[in-house]
Amino acid sequence: PYDVLVIGGGPAGASAAIYSARKGIRTGIVAERFGGQVLDTMTIENFISVKSTEGPKFAASLEEHVKDYEIDIMNLQRAKSLQKNDDNMFELELDNGGVLKSKTVIISTGARWRQIGVPGEEEFKNKGVAYCPHCDGPLFEGKDVAVIGGGNSGVEAAIDLAGIVQNVTVLEFAGELKADEVLQERLNSLPNVDVKTNAQTTEITGDDNVNGITYIDRASGEEQHVDLEGVFVQIGLVPNTEWLDESVERNRIGEIITDKRGATSVPGLFAAGDVTDSPHNQIIISMGDGANASLGAFDYLIRN
Ligand code: FAD
Repeated sequence: PYDVLVIGGGPAGASAAIYSARKGIRTGIVAERFGGQVLDTMTIENFISVKSTEGPKFAASLEEHVKDYEIDIMNLQRAKSLQKNDDNMFELELDNGGVLKSKTVIISTGARWRQIGVPGEEEFKNKGVAYCPHCDGPLFEGKDVAVIGGGNSGVEAAIDLAGIVQNVTVLEFAGELKADEVLQERLNSLPNVDVKTNAQTTEITGDDNVNGITYIDRASGEEQHVDLEGVFVQIGLVPNTEWLDESVERNRIGEIITDKRGATSVPGLFAAGDVTDSPHNQIIISMGDGANASLGAFDYLIRN
């Protein structure tokens, strides 16, 4: 059996695996797609000490660093279920039927942005369609953008973007914004933000890059079009936790609840990165989280 089995091969998982291997304990890592969300990223400019890089390049160096250690890498393997047996040993079942055993487990299966699913979204991903304002906001400096979604994340994104871009149009499907009152007040105080409620986005248009957004005004039934260069989709981030049973405590939106040591409600089970209830989802934060959970798991091992 493994001492530490990491599930997920994004920044959090890679960091957790390296920190474990450096303790000289038996470490394995299972990933459906090594690299994680970073593989879908164009430019990364906020990983401190690396001024600018590209997602696939960053993912390749993550893997290269992991390969530098004695870590069993099981790539292209999907975790199906996790159980703790009577000898206090975790058993991870994979989609291919294989079962892996480990004394501790670190879950770092990340999250995915909920997609709006309209024409143009897929086509213009990284060509004007974006999901992360902290990451991609500065790429739209001085331009016009839209934010789809009027919940907390959408309104926070709009406030953030308003300080960088020329103009922000917020599109909310419902008749009113869903964000906290203080955020709405802040949003309404900004001169370069337009809010459209009852707005059903129907298409993101473009040629080589995004050039506009089309929506139906649900109040009048009329189709409207706004010319702009960027669209931030902010309709929620979904943690990849559907495969876990109820023993692992999660919050309302399915994120795994962890303490300061990365420990979950199940002894010996840790979690790190976007899959947890930590508030901000960033590469640098996920990596720190992975290191933290790994040290937490090591501490657990020497006490049990
Ligand atoms: P993830 O990167 O999501 O990795 C999860 C891993 O788990 C993957 O290997 C996945 O295949 C695997 N997995 C999932 N389910 C299973 C399963 N059942 N079995 C086995 N494996 C599984 N952050 C920044 O700091 N800067 C940026 O510029 C930036 N740009 C971004 C641009 C885009 C388009 C996106 C989508 C995100 C961006 N982010 C950026 C956010 C950043 O990518 C994430 O915060 C970070 O990747 C989270 O790391 P993670 O390891 O927690 O999860």
